[in-house]
Amino acid sequence: MQVYDLHSHSSHSDGVLSPVDLVMRAKSKQVDVLALTDHDTVSGLEAAAKQATIEGIDLIPGIELSSQWNGCGVHIVGLALDLGLPDIHAAVADVQRRRQQRAETIAEKLAKAGIPGALAGASAIAGGETLGRPHFARHLVREGHVSNVNQAFKRYLGAGKPCDVKNVWPSVEEVVHWVLSAGGTPVLAHPAKYKMTRTKLCRLVDCFTASGGLALEVVNGRQAVGMADNLARIATQYGLAASIGSDFHLPDQPWQELGCSGSLPAQVRPVWELW
Ligand code: MN
Ligand code: MN
Ligand code: MN
Repeated sequence: MQVYDLHSHSSHSDGVLSPVDLVMRAKSKQVDVLALTDHDTVSGLEAAAKQATIEGIDLIPGIELSSQWNGCGVHIVGLALDLGLPDIHAAVADVQRRRQQRAETIAEKLAKAGIPGALAGASAIAGGETLGRPHFARHLVREGHVSNVNQAFKRYLGAGKPCDVKNVWPSVEEVVHWVLSAGGTPVLAHPAKYKMTRTKLCRLVDCFTASGGLALEVVNGRQAVGMADNLARIATQYGLAASIGSDFHLPDQPWQELGCSGSLPAQVRPVWELW
């Protein structure tokens, strides 16, 4: 039986390993088919694909996009993207624009709070990475405004604090549409993580399915006993295929280790049967 891991992150988003090291680790963990699904970027896929060829494993080009539904942040994984199509690149550009705008607003608010120049400072810390709140936090520490990153969130950047700026994410419909037009399979990521009631989750799944969503991530990392079966029932009810992935970010987190998430319940249709 082949080992599938269809959700993982590299240093191109918030993972620790480079795409090359990630693929090598996947190989060492007996993964046969790996999807690299960095947050809001496809920039690691080329290097990962080259290494996958060397290691003799299948690399599925993927992405994890942020969206919102009824005020809740919802993640949608796009699998088996066609990188030759322009669409996913346009989607990534749109998301980057939203993040950049948010960063500029955070910097304006910090300036009003008496801390000018935070945009340049945070950008320098981010290097080539997508600019986000952690970079502002580190800048505040470096400049001596706070003594650590937690304090930066508590005093300035966290929810309800003076420099808190909500990200305006695209809707579920929009993100599903992006993935479909990039030739990919939209997967509703880690449904259990949203901590919704079953009724609410079913409304989300309903919206996702109506938008053209095709699969539910029935297994994400190591979940509570019985969770996969619950989610498998929802997948079946809505005619969705099922996906499985570790959501690997870094070594030393055995609950999210590559290739170690178990298997899909028997009754579901695996997402790879769609390809
Ligand atoms: Mn992440
Ligand atoms: Mn996620
Ligand atoms: Mn993830």
